[in-house]
Amino acid sequence: MNWFKKKKTCVHCNKNKTRRDFENQPTCGACQTKILISREPTRICPVDGATLLKEHNNEIIIDRCPTCKGVWLDAGEIEAIKEAAKQEGMAVGMVVF
Ligand SMILES: [Zn+2]
Ligand SMILES: [Zn+2]
Repeated sequence: MNWFKKKKTCVHCNKNKTRRDFENQPTCGACQTKILISREPTRICPVDGATLLKEHNNEIIIDRCPTCKGVWLDAGEIEAIKEAAKQEGMAVGMVVF
């Protein structure tokens, strides 16, 4: 009997050890982010109609337009990313979908 939660190998990459569970399966942070990205709907830039590219910074997923460099955020992501966006000098679209 082991009363401590042991690190398990991520079932998605079979490489990273993790203590976190995602949908009842041991999942490392990188794989969890990848899964979340793959489930997000593709968005179209409202300015020029280009397909937005998904980028992630830790667990924050953003949609960035490859044409006008606008960045679109989901609700709750704005505060977390505002500082980073400012530092990188990105154009930030303050739109909540
Ligand atoms: Zn993994
Ligand atoms: Zn655009």
